[in-house]
Amino acid sequence: MAPDVLLAWGAERFGAGLVCLSALGAEDVVLVDMIARHALPIEILSIDTAVLFRETYTLWSKLEKRYGISIAGVRSHLIPDAGPTSPDIDRLWERDPDACCAARKVAPLRTALSTRQAWITGIRREQSETRRHARQVEWDNAFGLVKLNPLASWTSDQMWAYIREHDVPYNTLHDNGYPSIGCEPCTSAAVEGETFRSGRWRGRDKTECGLHVVPAPLVERKG
Ligand code: SF4
Repeated sequence: MAPDVLLAWGAERFGAGLVCLSALGAEDVVLVDMIARHALPIEILSIDTAVLFRETYTLWSKLEKRYGISIAGVRSHLIPDAGPTSPDIDRLWERDPDACCAARKVAPLRTALSTRQAWITGIRREQSETRRHARQVEWDNAFGLVKLNPLASWTSDQMWAYIREHDVPYNTLHDNGYPSIGCEPCTSAAVEGETFRSGRWRGRDKTECGLHVVPAPLVERKG
């Protein structure tokens, strides 16, 4: 199914129970553009771990301005808007990155999704081995709701062609060797021959932050 058709179906099927989680990557800006282009009533969220790249925060503002939208920040209660970060998670990525992702990303997202019926993500099958079986529509066992992956079958070339054709704002780090962009302390540029997510948690076995686990098919769709 074409991604924009799936988005429109999701908006119709789930109404306010549907939310789009934007990681502000190249896939995510495509989805933001499609949602805005078709004026779909889909709320867009982004997890603010408080340690994103400056370029990512710049893109966040740019998207809001370009499309006249608001991208709500999802943040751990351990990271107050003002004042110091809780010592429980301050620089936790150095000691225990799994616990850090759980606190900064998974827990606040779980709260944000607890009142929803479905969420939209930008994952694509070719991004990594763990995402190879992603379907456009699946049941998310971890969070207990439907998961829509409109771009599941898209290649990197398709995504960048869309971005260029529609002049979609994107993170400038992509032009400097960062195919996948997460938090600044855990993301490095990839070198020639490395895979899409090689720059994430470099030197560790970790490949995922815990937001995307093995999917369960809800509806078999060919992308
Ligand atoms: S990517 Fe790194 S800094 Fe960000 S939440 Fe995970 S471990 Fe923490």
